[in-house]
Amino acid sequence: MHIELTEMLRCPEPHEENVLVMSTGEMRGRMVRSGILGCPVCHREYPIVKGVVHFSGGEGTPLRDKNTQSLPGVPSPPSSLPALAVDAQTLQALLDLSGPGGYVVLLGSAARHAVGLAGLMGGIHFVGVNAPPEVEELPVLSLLACDTMVPLRHAMARGVVVGPELGAWLAEAARILLRGRRLVVEREDAAAPPGVTRLAVGQGLFVGQRG
Ligand SMILES: [Zn+2]
Repeated sequence: MHIELTEMLRCPEPHEENVLVMSTGEMRGRMVRSGILGCPVCHREYPIVKGVVHFSGGEGTPLRDKNTQSLPGVPSPPSSLPALAVDAQTLQALLDLSGPGGYVVLLGSAARHAVGLAGLMGGIHFVGVNAPPEVEELPVLSLLACDTMVPLRHAMARGVVVGPELGAWLAEAARILLRGRRLVVEREDAAAPPGVTRLAVGQGLFVGQRG
């Protein structure tokens, strides 16, 4: 995980957003390969292992309260993923990404777009959440794993791409999106989450814009 992403993370427990405290172990350049993120509100700790931040299922994480409302769990990715439904240039245009800076978040198997998008434009950092196992961390790609929510602060993303298996996470995608920015879902039957206006549907994709 890129060290500067720390300020954009949030604890997935149902309490207010609060900056997590990083204790770094091994670093490689600006990427944290191992370490611990601590929550100052609920005091849970989340390990960074081989560059990936694990927000759930890690040792030392208290069991989730059964009454806690959570999103449907993350479907496990199929053993062989289909070819990408959309090429990087089309995706860049649909996301209306121009100019460097900021974060683009890729949920589930959409993390596979990071290399293609990064090749088209520099200066954007990509964040993969629940990426399939074959997607590896890169200097331009941080990886997070969490089965209950997107562990990022609201309104931090310049664009969000949602893999076809995560149709239940659209409200989360909308929550992290900046106003006026776009969301692409890799399925046509997606329903626009609250706060998002549908711009286009077709060729296996849904495109929406945060109001
Ligand atoms: Zn917490």
